[in-house]
Amino acid sequence: MVKMIDVTKKYVLGEQVIIANDNVSFSVNEGELCVILGPSGAGKTTILNILGGMDVASSGQIIIDDKDITKFNSKQLTNYRRHDVGFVFQFYNLMPQLTALDNVEIASEIGKDPLDAKEVLISVGLKDRMHNFPSQLSGGEQQRVSIARAIAKNPKILLCDEPTGALDIETGKQILELLYNTSKNFNKTVIIVTHNQAIAEIADRVITVKNGHVASNKHQSKPKQIH
Ligand code: ADP
Ligand code: ADP
Repeated sequence: MVKMIDVTKKYVLGEQVIIANDNVSFSVNEGELCVILGPSGAGKTTILNILGGMDVASSGQIIIDDKDITKFNSKQLTNYRRHDVGFVFQFYNLMPQLTALDNVEIASEIGKDPLDAKEVLISVGLKDRMHNFPSQLSGGEQQRVSIARAIAKNPKILLCDEPTGALDIETGKQILELLYNTSKNFNKTVIIVTHNQAIAEIADRVITVKNGHVASNKHQSKPKQIH
């Protein structure tokens, strides 16, 4: 369970104070795919960075499986980031000099209870491409490698920032389907941030953010099929 309680994040730039997150509260269960939807500048990436332990909240609580990560010291936060969270980015962020398999293996090695890198690559549909370098793979395939990399360290939570933003519509649908299946088959909490309304259709939960605050939070009991 991921729970944000009254989380506020302020950035102070000289005299200027920017409130990126304004009393944000929501929770997402295990096995649930949640889309955080909102326009550019709404505060989505800040939410993701705070949830992932890459940035710290100015106030509020972030409960991950009964532990408040805002109380963590820097060592605990590093461990949390390494073991409990997987990240998926818009532009994949793969290491270009490593094969798909090596990209996944070096990530899985930092996990506490990692999955087999080859098996994970097979599960994302890359059985025949694992010895290719990123430059030899299509965008959709590179995103599959990056999802495999995130899954392989066996984290509780997958945090995805515009994971289909660089892909065509059809390839994007396949990636969303893979993330949806990951939430269900691996019982992970999957959180996707996007400005793309269409992506919200596949979510179990849709949280809309505007000007740093939660404008709506809807559970969808029957998310639309992707196809
Ligand atoms: P989104 O992901 O929805 O586009 P962000 O979370 O990136 O929004 O940004 C929310 C607000 O916080 C914006 O006004 C942005 O300029 C500001 N912001 C984000 N990161 C920083 C930072 N490191 N320093 C100052 N302001 C920031
Ligand atoms: P798309 O344009 O549909 O994203 P690409 O044209 O990039 O796809 O790739 C189509 C197929 O060819 C994919 O399976 C991809 O992995 C493969 N491919 C693309 N570039 C290379 C390359 N340099 N070496 C080997 N296979 C490649």
